Amino acid sequence: MKKFKLVGLMYACVYLFASSAAYADYHYHVSTDADLKKLDVNLCFKGEVPKELVAESLDASVALMGAWYGSGEEINVSGVIPTEQLPSGACIVYQVDISRGIQRHDMTGPKVYRSSGATGVSNGLWFWRPEVFDKNRKVLVEFHLPKDFMVATSWLSTENEYVLEVPKTPHDWPSWIVLGRFFKKEITVGGMQLHLAILDGSPQPDVDALAYWIESEAGYVDEAIGPIPFSMVQVFVFPNARARQPVPIAYVTRGGGPTLHMMINQRRSMEEFHADWTATHELSHLYLPFIEPEDAWFYEGFASYYQYVVRARTGAIDQLNAWSNLIYGFHRGSREAEARELTLLEATEKMYAGEPFMQVYWAGAAMMLIADVQIREETDGVWSLDRVVREFNACCMDKTRAWSAQEVIFKFDEIYGRPIFLPLMRRYADSNNFPDLTDTFSSLGLSVIGSKVSFFGSADQGSLRNQIMSMPER
Ligand SMILES: [Zn+2]
Repeated sequence: MKKFKLVGLMYACVYLFASSAAYADYHYHVSTDADLKKLDVNLCFKGEVPKELVAESLDASVALMGAWYGSGEEINVSGVIPTEQLPSGACIVYQVDISRGIQRHDMTGPKVYRSSGATGVSNGLWFWRPEVFDKNRKVLVEFHLPKDFMVATSWLSTENEYVLEVPKTPHDWPSWIVLGRFFKKEITVGGMQLHLAILDGSPQPDVDALAYWIESEAGYVDEAIGPIPFSMVQVFVFPNARARQPVPIAYVTRGGGPTLHMMINQRRSMEEFHADWTATHELSHLYLPFIEPEDAWFYEGFASYYQYVVRARTGAIDQLNAWSNLIYGFHRGSREAEARELTLLEATEKMYAGEPFMQVYWAGAAMMLIADVQIREETDGVWSLDRVVREFNACCMDKTRAWSAQEVIFKFDEIYGRPIFLPLMRRYADSNNFPDLTDTFSSLGLSVIGSKVSFFGSADQGSLRNQIMSMPER
């Protein structure tokens, strides 16, 4: 049986660390070398030991170089790390290879990003944890890094910047961590802290200009929709993306807390970054909780609607441009729906197999516009989609579990006081008809001929358009 030579050393370390930090119920000590190729993890349990440990990525078992009990006996790992027979107070150690982006079983994208000086790694690749963290158990991860190395992740800060508390989000929600030397900045926007991490690239990214760009973008959504309903949002900027656009890939993850990931092409000018809608779209996602991927039409529709509405409100684009962009999206969505003859739910499912997604995004966005117009008309502008969302965020947004679109929609209708969203979902989610915008366009005084959009009608129609596309007074 292979024995792990470092065990004795790790024990000595644990003994020393235990006196320096308040001991948690699950206490991880993570160390790495300057080349950031592997992580050494020592995990100790206070009180009852969980039955087994799991990791979010299917490739965590591939990246695992070995795991050992406190006795030095190697643990036989098959998908899970069994810990059932361990006594209270036991520890285990394990090593993880983070030198490369393994993609053997988990095809959800690369799990490692290396830059000069820092490595980003999916926590799902190395963070072995019980499937459920009991409510009253504290989970701390303490990093022991080479000099000048920093850490950035979505977990909660403590007074020691190298000790982070792991929030109790579900084990299968992805999250990332960056270790090493990189640009790090905390930015306050409204009542929220953006924790920004920008990795190095070639050419070197203009970190101050990028930080200003992110800060402006977060300020825009905060002003245009309402407070971002989180106290902390982690932002990772990974340079060197090869594409014509400044931000070819961006997405939000929710594990441990919300994180905005942006792969950027730093060769593009800052004007192009400021003119791009991607950051607005991603930040808009934060106004909804984690929603099941099979209901992506709802949250992608929501973000696609707001990506133009917010930018018109802040003056980044003019109103006609915003309407034209929305309508161009609706055209692409409806053409795709007609050609493929799939229901919206079927199209959403197939999107994850790499199939087209215009129907998914823009049918969802069309439903948001229909609802927003209807609500504003019924209440003379006292209510709006913004207000429903703000009140939902204030009263009801449980951020530690997954929601279905229907659950959110029930809440939206309850908050508004009348069913608006549910009838739209019933009519269009299980249908291959693209949402009918005829009445909505006529309420808004929008004339659409081919791809040409123009305004017509009375002051009322103009005022409804202005309500949606101008900065609300609050
Ligand atoms: Zn999106």
